[in-house]
Amino acid sequence: MASVQMTEVRKSFGAVDVIHGIDLKIEDGAFVALVGPSGCGKSTLLRMIAGLEETSGGEIAIGNRVVNDLTPRERNIAMVFQNYALYPHMTVAENMGFNLKLAKKPQAEIDARVSEAARMLGLTPLLDRRPSQLSGGQRQRVAMGRAVVRKPQVFLFDEPLSNLDAKLRVQMRSEIKGLHQKVRTTSIYVTHDQIEAMTLADHIVVMHGGRIEQQGHPMELYRRPANLFVAGFIGTPA
Ligand code: ADP
Ligand code: MG
Repeated sequence: MASVQMTEVRKSFGAVDVIHGIDLKIEDGAFVALVGPSGCGKSTLLRMIAGLEETSGGEIAIGNRVVNDLTPRERNIAMVFQNYALYPHMTVAENMGFNLKLAKKPQAEIDARVSEAARMLGLTPLLDRRPSQLSGGQRQRVAMGRAVVRKPQVFLFDEPLSNLDAKLRVQMRSEIKGLHQKVRTTSIYVTHDQIEAMTLADHIVVMHGGRIEQQGHPMELYRRPANLFVAGFIGTPA
């Protein structure tokens, strides 16, 4: 695990500035929700942390290492998306261990890490199944398992539950929370769902138009929103 620190991070696509100088410190082991309306720059910010998108300015540090020039693999971060692609021809165990195999880890270590992650996520009875034999929630858990086995310094979640139905979403929320309580890996969780943010995170960052409007403890934002935008976004759940 590690802290994540952003200093004056900017991003433009061509002539369009989408991130306007973000300063943000995320504590080691924290679970932070990044919220804001569609198009405000949440995914772009995550992708810059992951190294999938270059910064146009500023500095990103993970632990005490500046990572701007590191490849995604060197950053040791795992990202969980909504469109998690599992390999249909591989079993659950093979899907979970695939990244470790690419990294040429010994098979015994892969097996050990896969069974540990499977235990954590309740996937042990499903290890020999193929993705087509799983429910949507089970597939999402396998996608998380694939991230967990890598023992990353940081988890990045980009609206991982938005494809699931309401009931499953609530269930997966508590699984994600339980997982964080077990592994304590620093987590940044992007969502446009303020209830999800309030229930999962101990710190919420509200973004709007490529800037941070306010950040703090969920109840602090709820009780003392800094402006009308935050009040509208956090205060009155849809
Ligand atoms: P969010 O995840 O909050 O919905 P995004 O980070 O996806 O927002 O997008 C922020 C802004 O950047 C949007 O206006 C989007 O159109 C723009 N954008 C994102 N990716 C690209 C890209 N590859 N090229 C050009 N514009 C982009
Ligand atoms: Mg997005």
